[in-house]
Amino acid sequence: MKELRLSFAPPMKWRDGRQKKWLESPAWKQLRQKILDRDGFSCAYCGYRAEKYQIVDHIDGNPQNNEASNLQVVCQMCNLIKHAGQGCVIVGIVDLYRKSKFAQNEIMRITHEMRSAGASDARTIRYLGLEEKVGFRQDRGYLKELYGFVTSRPNRDENDMYSKWLAYCKLARKETKDDNQTRLTV
Ligand SMILES: [Zn+2]
Repeated sequence: MKELRLSFAPPMKWRDGRQKKWLESPAWKQLRQKILDRDGFSCAYCGYRAEKYQIVDHIDGNPQNNEASNLQVVCQMCNLIKHAGQGCVIVGIVDLYRKSKFAQNEIMRITHEMRSAGASDARTIRYLGLEEKVGFRQDRGYLKELYGFVTSRPNRDENDMYSKWLAYCKLARKETKDDNQTRLTV
């Protein structure tokens, strides 16, 4: 797994018309699918796998460098850690801590696992040993020393990709549960 660190994109890069146009083009969609297939739909940082709503991310941060070697799959949660400005400020569901028993990648893996098993945020935070909550600053040196936790608080923007992914997870879990129930009654 690649090392995951809290970071951010400068605000002017959050919304870019030209980039949006490219992201909607058939060429990008085809390339995106190629990378998803290559990496088995699994997040480069935490290994989380999902058929939908995974992000194909530019490793060097340059959206114009579309070489396959510069592209990787990132899950919705790890994406909010890489773009902590968005996670903490815009979407408002990422909290930052000074102390953790685990590295950032492990925090993500464990959060995915515990949340899908129904654990509360409080229980997950205790297990992860996250302590000393602090605020966001647009400062990579500051963020480098911290650990991010993606909470299950309601998202400020219900129409973003993260919310769509959450709804998709809930649906997938319900279907698994229904399958189990069917099996039990047969
Ligand atoms: Zn991930």
